[in-house]
Amino acid sequence: MNAETPSPIVRRKTRAIRLGDMLIGGGNPIRVQSMTNTDTRDVQASIAQVLALAEAGCEIVRLAVLDEDAARALKEIKAASPVPLIADIHFDHRLALASLEAGVDGLRINPGNIGGQDKVAAVVHAAKAVGAPIRIGVNSGSVERHLLEKFGGPTPEAMVESALGHVRMLEDENFDQIKISLKSSSVPATIAAYTRLADVVDYPLHIGITEAGTPLRGATKSGVGLGILLWMGIGDTLRVSLTGDPLPEMDVAWELLRCLGIRRRGAEMVSCPTCGRTEIDLAGLAQAVEQKLRGVQVPVKVAVMGCVVNGPGEAREADIGLAGGRDCAVIFRKGEVVRKVRGEANVLTEFMNELDQIIQEFENRCA
Ligand code: SF4
Repeated sequence: MNAETPSPIVRRKTRAIRLGDMLIGGGNPIRVQSMTNTDTRDVQASIAQVLALAEAGCEIVRLAVLDEDAARALKEIKAASPVPLIADIHFDHRLALASLEAGVDGLRINPGNIGGQDKVAAVVHAAKAVGAPIRIGVNSGSVERHLLEKFGGPTPEAMVESALGHVRMLEDENFDQIKISLKSSSVPATIAAYTRLADVVDYPLHIGITEAGTPLRGATKSGVGLGILLWMGIGDTLRVSLTGDPLPEMDVAWELLRCLGIRRRGAEMVSCPTCGRTEIDLAGLAQAVEQKLRGVQVPVKVAVMGCVVNGPGEAREADIGLAGGRDCAVIFRKGEVVRKVRGEANVLTEFMNELDQIIQEFENRCA
């Protein structure tokens, strides 16, 4: 299967819910989500991060709401945001009400943790009034004590039963604009929980691996866990969780969707691993090209390869590529060599010029 092969994934049928102008579930595109790590009360810092995330491909942004000031700050952040915003709230239903009043598009709150059905009713009433959905987010660390005792720990069964309990509280208020997540830091447990839940509800599911880790471990863990779920057709929105700055999550999320043939965004790059035939600083070249492609929106495919003998052939599908030699490189298009550059110092400059030209051609074609 190459990048052009249509994805064989059959998506699980879910009902559609509305988040702002966006439909989620019901066969709509799988949406990429993240969460700010700014203090939500710091309006300017939060707006800057929301804008940076949106620019990098984030389609839904969640913000933690820890107090009334944070809820009030959402008004200004929402006014500046090009994407729907979700207020993430624990325990205090008044913060949910204040966030909805500030204009947020959706809530993430667990109804079982906010102090009773009367408070659930108040939140649902306010959510219905503005058409906001609610995500129930069960984490392995948030499973209720009686379920931990019943199942002997935060097992996938316990997580599903916890989620269904929260769902019932919303359904008792005739509310069905629900999305559910069941995150564990264990990949097998997360997969088991989502597959079990997918059998018993048709609400859209937000998928993620919680506390996935630092960029290398987190990307690997999320890639495996979310990749398996997506391959099974499960998942209507997703988040790749990486410790620290949320922006790198976008690269991983979009690469994951692209690898599975689900969605594409921007340029694609392949580079060879290097071997004993490599006679040029290929890692440096690859990094420079990757950096350049970061903001490119057109679907140009670029290859950065280590040798003239095998490089172009191995990267036949690339729109443009570079294959290094001793103190030189060739530039190729669709696997055919079109030009030779002499002097390692000139290689990057000349390749970047060629790359600019082809990006421009793509942009003209897409315009
Ligand atoms: Fe080695 Fe050439 Fe393949 Fe790169 S493209 S791994 S240098 S054989």
